[in-house]
Amino acid sequence: MERSLIILKPDAVQRGLIGPILSRLEQRGLKLLGMKLMRIDDALARRHYAVHEGKPFFASLVEYITSGPVVVAVIGGNGVIQMVRNTVGATNPSNAAAGTIRGDFAVEIGRNLIHASDSPENGEAEVKLFFQTEELVDWERSTDAWIYE
Ligand code: UDP
Ligand code: MG
Repeated sequence: MERSLIILKPDAVQRGLIGPILSRLEQRGLKLLGMKLMRIDDALARRHYAVHEGKPFFASLVEYITSGPVVVAVIGGNGVIQMVRNTVGATNPSNAAAGTIRGDFAVEIGRNLIHASDSPENGEAEVKLFFQTEELVDWERSTDAWIYE
């Protein structure tokens, strides 16, 4: 089973879009394994985005992600990494397809509302960076037979 870490970034929280964004993922049938409201500090932001260190947008990215509370959540299931990325849409909202979260709710790359893990390996590493094992819930969903054949 893959696990994807999603972050509803400070703009999503400030704009009152937690519910609408989570609804997209929930309605699709994706399963939540954990969720919390938190503030990302400078050190955590730099670790999470370490792959982008040295790029021109790094400082503004760290400033953005630490600028207010975020909602972090874990989604689990077969193939969820790609499915969540498809539902989130292209990194730059101006190119993101209509019907995607970024394509429907955002206009600029520096305010693109949501993070989602980009590979199974990064998903595992990011889940561990943001959640303790005991914060995650292993649960049976009674609707699974209507979502998975
Ligand atoms: N970003 C930015 N300017 C850029 C590229 C990226 O502000 O030119 C920000 C944007 O918030 C993006 C994040 O850096 O979501 C991480 O970039 P990545 O390429 O990993 O995009 P993502 O995986 O979020 O689609
Ligand atoms: Mg990325």
